[in-house]
Amino acid sequence: MTMLKLYNTRTKQKDVCQPLHDHVVGLYTCGPTVYNYAHIGNLRTYVFEDVLKRALKNHGLKVNHVMNITDVGHLTDDGDQGEDKMEKGSEREGKTAWDIAAFYTEAFKKDIEELNIIEPSIWCTATDHIQEQIDQVQTLIDKGFTYQTSDGIYFDTTKLEDYGKLANLKAHDLRAGERVDMGEKKNPHDFALWKFTKDGETRQMEWDAFGKKGFPGWHIECSAMSMKYLGNQFDIHCGGIDHVPVHHTNEIAQAEAASGTKPWVNIWMHGEFLLIGDNDKMAKSGDNFITLQTIKDKGFSPLDYRYYLLQAHYRKQLAFSWEALQAAKNGLKRLRNIVRYLPEKSEENPHLEHEFFSAINDDLNTSEALAVLWRGLKEEKLDMHTIKKFDKILGLNLHEIEEDEPIPATIQELADKRQQAREEKDWALSDNLRDEITKLGYTLEDTQDGQTITKT
Ligand code: AMP
Ligand code: ZN
Repeated sequence: MTMLKLYNTRTKQKDVCQPLHDHVVGLYTCGPTVYNYAHIGNLRTYVFEDVLKRALKNHGLKVNHVMNITDVGHLTDDGDQGEDKMEKGSEREGKTAWDIAAFYTEAFKKDIEELNIIEPSIWCTATDHIQEQIDQVQTLIDKGFTYQTSDGIYFDTTKLEDYGKLANLKAHDLRAGERVDMGEKKNPHDFALWKFTKDGETRQMEWDAFGKKGFPGWHIECSAMSMKYLGNQFDIHCGGIDHVPVHHTNEIAQAEAASGTKPWVNIWMHGEFLLIGDNDKMAKSGDNFITLQTIKDKGFSPLDYRYYLLQAHYRKQLAFSWEALQAAKNGLKRLRNIVRYLPEKSEENPHLEHEFFSAINDDLNTSEALAVLWRGLKEEKLDMHTIKKFDKILGLNLHEIEEDEPIPATIQELADKRQQAREEKDWALSDNLRDEITKLGYTLEDTQDGQTITKT
């Protein structure tokens, strides 16, 4: 098998994935901030990470996957100002921040299950790991990387000579067009490790630490929890591309300053954005907020969306459109309708298999892998056995039969008998026949146009 190469934001090249520990890969993926539903842009990132995980497993590696749930401390502004997103969600819905977190965590878990995303080995929430975060902040204080202002404890980014290396940030530069409210910060890139509750206020989520009430900054949870579960050095860390200049840059600063070990993470991977409208980013607030439920309400299945995403490489921006999603839906349906008639096992076709996995091993090139799959089907060179191997990576349930497959003759016969019973006003028989149809896994409904039958 070809080696798995992954584009590494840290080294700016495709690197061969060589686990630090034999046969086990430590993987940390930044999880959702649970103050609202995930939008389909967020979900694009989790689908890319899922393909990564499946590719790793395909190499016989055990993946020790940790995902956090941000349930506190993520402010509405990356520059450490603004409100806590959880408290904001709480105000919006008139529920406690804890209830908001529980509700949207469950919604997120349901979304990823429907998208056939394999669950992490460990879920961890920021609020369950407050002590670990306090301990890491304390280590940074002890090592002289911090200073205190009236509103919190800040990381002094000038104390690290290579601060910003992931994003190539220059020490004094700000990114084009960025405005930072410096507050009492000494340097524009300095960031909050811990924030204090404002005098005279009480927050729903606050803890006693550093002599006051307060709450963690957004970045500290990821370095504290990933180091707890994966150690001071681990293999792969992922997120969306927006995390490069701030969140991941700051995670690296915290982790490497706290442990003194570099590089903290071997391979950094970032998924490009899903764009909507006029190349706008999809924001969790605003009109272009589309969730998995929105998609389902319009008659698409979550796996139609997954197929749509896999047609593009994860490192390319993707402009969302309903037309393209419809085309993907049609494509997936055609695919399944071909796959269902494939022989279970035919002559092995090592060449096609090699091409498919070479595409995946080349930085998860799913669009190329799908092209290989289609070519194999057109040339009638694939069997079910091989499709199942491909689907372990794609996660599209290709063997699934589309709903509007022909209704089996036995079911149709029962429905015809029921129709007759109804005409003869034999309601008891009619009900029995409907029960029988239900037991066989079909749903029969009476409509103005007569009976309709669908697979349950
Ligand atoms: P959040 O819940 O806002 O912390 O974001 C969850 C994940 O979604 C992060 O990895 C973000 O980088 C990623 N993300 C946010 N917006 C988009 C988008 N439009 N397309 C792809 N990924 C996104
Ligand atoms: Zn993170």
